[in-house]
Amino acid sequence: MQNAFPHIITQIVSESPRVKRFFLKRKDEKPITFLSGQFVMVYNEFFNLDQQSRSYSIASVSNTPEEIELCIVLNETGKFTPWLFSLEIGHELMVSEPQGGFVFRGIEEPIKHVFVCTGTGIAPFRSMIHDSLMQGCETVLVFGNRWKEDVLYWDHWNTLQENNLLFRFIPVLSREEVPQFKTGYVHPYYTRELKDLNDARIYVCGWKEMCNQTRDRLKELGFNRRQYFFEQYD
Ligand SMILES: Cc1cc2nc3c(=O)[nH]c(=O)nc-3n(C[C@H](O)[C@H](O)[C@H](O)COP(=O)(O)OP(=O)(O)OC[C@H]3O[C@@H](n4cnc5c(N)ncnc54)[C@H](O)[C@@H]3O)c2cc1C
Repeated sequence: MQNAFPHIITQIVSESPRVKRFFLKRKDEKPITFLSGQFVMVYNEFFNLDQQSRSYSIASVSNTPEEIELCIVLNETGKFTPWLFSLEIGHELMVSEPQGGFVFRGIEEPIKHVFVCTGTGIAPFRSMIHDSLMQGCETVLVFGNRWKEDVLYWDHWNTLQENNLLFRFIPVLSREEVPQFKTGYVHPYYTRELKDLNDARIYVCGWKEMCNQTRDRLKELGFNRRQYFFEQYD
C-alpha cells in the first residue's frame, strides 16, 4: 500500500440503480489536493492480493480540500465493488493519494474541448469540464448510457448548460428512444462536433471497447496523440 492513508466515509448517495457516490475525508483531516482527472486507489488489505485494491477517479467538481467524491458502479459478480457497496457512513478505508496522468492539460488559447464517456467514465470529467470552462473553452460533453435511468449527474449537466453558453451536453442512449436524448452509440455525435476542425482537444474515459473504437475513429479523423487523451477502466 503506497502512500495510503485512513479515510472516513462521510456520505453515500444513490445516484442511479447501480451507482453510488461515496464522499471521503482523511481521518487526520489533512487537505486532499488533486489535479482534475486524477484517481485514487482504494484498498482492502484483508482480501487476496489480486483483489486488494481498485482505482477510482475523483468525481468532485473542483478541488475542495475537505473531502473527495467517488462515483462507483456495482459489478454484482466483481470482487471489490460488492464489498464497497456494503459499507456504511463512518467506515474507515485506506485510500491512496491522488495520482495519474489523465489530467486536464493547460492551453495557451481557448480551443474546443470534447469530452466522450460512458457510464462512470463521467467521474473525472466533472472537474476537467470545470477547468475547461474556467479557461474560456467551448466545451462539449458526449455522454453515452444504455438507459435514461443510468445517466449520472443529470441535473448538474443540465444546469451547467442553462447557465454557461460555452457548454453543451449531448446525452446518448443505446437501448431506448427518449425525447431530448440522441439514440445509438456516442461515435457519430463526437464525430459531428469535430468535423472540419483540426485544432481541438478530446478526452475519452470508460471501458475498453468504447475507448478502442473512439481511438480508431479519432485517428481516421486526422487527430494526433497530442490532441486526444484516454483513461481506460479495464
Ligand atoms: C484509472 C481507473 C479509474 C477508474 N475509475 C472508476 C470510477 O470512477 N468508477 C468506477 O465505477 N470504476 C472505475 N474504475 C474501475 C474499477 O477500478 C474496477 O475495475 C471496478 O470497480 C470493478 O471492480 P470489481 O472488483 O467489482 O470487479 P472485478 O472483479 O475487478 O471485475 C471483473 C471483470 O468485469 C469487468 N467490469 C467490471 N465492471 C464493469 C462494468 N461496469 N462494465 C464492463 N465491465 C466491467 C472488469 O474489467 C473485469 O474484467 C477505474 C479503473 C481505472 C483503471
